[in-house]
Amino acid sequence: MTERRFEGIGATPTLGVGTAVWYRPTDVTDLEEPPVDGVDPVAERERFDAAQADARAELEAERESTRERVGEDEAAVFDAHLKFLEDPQIESGVEEALEEGLPAPHAVKEAFAGPIEQFAGMDGMMAERADDLRDIRDRLLRLLTGTERTDLGSLPDGSVVLAELLTPSDTAQLDPDSITGIATMEGGRTAHAAIIARSLGIPAVVGVGDELDAVDDGTDVVVDGEDGVVIADPDAATRERAAESTQTAVVEESVATADGRSVEIAANLGTPAEAGPAVDRGADGVGLFRTEFLFQDRAAAPDEDEQYAAYHEVCEAFAAGVAGDGEPRIVVRTLDVGGDKPIDYLGLDPDENGFLGARGIRLSLDEHADLFETQLRALLRVAATDAGAGLAVMFPLVSTVEELEAALEQVESVADDLDDEGVDYAIPELGVMVETPASTYLADAFAERVDFLSIGTNDLTQYIQSAQRDLDRMSEYQDPLAPAVLRAIDRTVTAGHAGDAWVGMCGEMAGDPDLTELLVGLGLDELSMSAVTIPDVKTAIREVDTEAAAELADAMLAADTLAEVRQRL
Ligand code: PEP
Ligand code: MG
Repeated sequence: MTERRFEGIGATPTLGVGTAVWYRPTDVTDLEEPPVDGVDPVAERERFDAAQADARAELEAERESTRERVGEDEAAVFDAHLKFLEDPQIESGVEEALEEGLPAPHAVKEAFAGPIEQFAGMDGMMAERADDLRDIRDRLLRLLTGTERTDLGSLPDGSVVLAELLTPSDTAQLDPDSITGIATMEGGRTAHAAIIARSLGIPAVVGVGDELDAVDDGTDVVVDGEDGVVIADPDAATRERAAESTQTAVVEESVATADGRSVEIAANLGTPAEAGPAVDRGADGVGLFRTEFLFQDRAAAPDEDEQYAAYHEVCEAFAAGVAGDGEPRIVVRTLDVGGDKPIDYLGLDPDENGFLGARGIRLSLDEHADLFETQLRALLRVAATDAGAGLAVMFPLVSTVEELEAALEQVESVADDLDDEGVDYAIPELGVMVETPASTYLADAFAERVDFLSIGTNDLTQYIQSAQRDLDRMSEYQDPLAPAVLRAIDRTVTAGHAGDAWVGMCGEMAGDPDLTELLVGLGLDELSMSAVTIPDVKTAIREVDTEAAAELADAMLAADTLAEVRQRL
């Protein structure tokens, strides 16, 4: 049988092989016509109240089990669901529909329809909130109609779960020891279900479309989360590639090139729960902790103590799990919102806070200076602990020296306050992300003022190439191998080193083992990536000869077109 390929979006960049099992929950929105002579609104109200109470109990139980199995931050999605469950707008919609004489299930369906449509019409992550609302609506409908729930926690070993869409509650039930992959027709990379799948380390491809329906139960399937493709009836070569990819041995110790140049290989984290799995994958430390996940899907920002606990938890996981002299380096990036990273309660505006608007450090130095101060207080306190000795703090989206100086002054001012209060603190290593064209021209000035630079190739590529990073239509421009981007990286590394700063990279480019030789040749001291790719990159580093890598980099820098770069690679 020839293999069939279904393109989607890779959500967990790893491969899995298994047997397809369709998850088709009963469509609880398919309700019978309501009785023509109406229903008793009082009795229906009681039915709704009972279902709402049961839903609350279920959500609280799921939040607890997710917190234990996956992590505190992934569990926060259930807090958001609890909030939606009691949303006044939805509750008054239910009330109105009940007063019109509709039975409780119909009233629920009607009350959710408007808000779901509203979110679904928005862009990016906001659109994905529509899935959260559907999840709550369907939970209420299931309870109201007495429909049985499919148990996803006890699927046979080696199952690849196929579904139209998985909700966060569905995904959190999956056992990563027995589920070898997930493929869904709908959903995006940043949907909650995708984030939970990543944290559980389950290979996942989402947004495949209706074509996925052609894969029957029991079919052999490869889920290739690296390339974002589901392969049904894989041929021998595909199976072999999948088997090899899942077998790259973990390299626990830090690595050097064949001729002895050390390169730090660190992990990008979104939540503290990812620290343990990153240590297990051989991460030397953390090169980018994206703290915005701590702030998302909740009603208000985490306070100083909650943040302290989260940063300390990451430091402790690495201090306990990684051998070597001194504490592993944990680079925490201060809040980077705006652009593609919305946070509901901050009231960000898609235009004003878009990719070319007030985002990243710009917000931290202006209307969200209070959040910045709280975050710095938590970080400076962690830096004073034993586990936090390797903590480093990095500022996102800096494009002027004035911004950097203002951020550094804020660190000093927070230190003075802690000092006055008699609270233990330490000033950590400080660094800046280089992810705007301006910052590549100012890298020398930055390097004089901080300890390190970290190149964010995701944003750098979008800005250098003037092509928005989340627009599919612009994908041919979004290649970090584009000559202009390579030259920007080269000038950043050279300027950073001249100013005695170490230079790392934490954009997606850093995790591609096919580019490891080039990145060593460009002189990067540290590469930080999604934990799943660490074994491949560590293995690749050991094969690099620094001199040959420098020659390769020179040849690629001399190329004027992307095609030439690719050819030389
Ligand atoms: C980047 O822009 O490359 C980066 C690492 O930051 P983020 O993807 O979080 O914007
Ligand atoms: Mg960025």
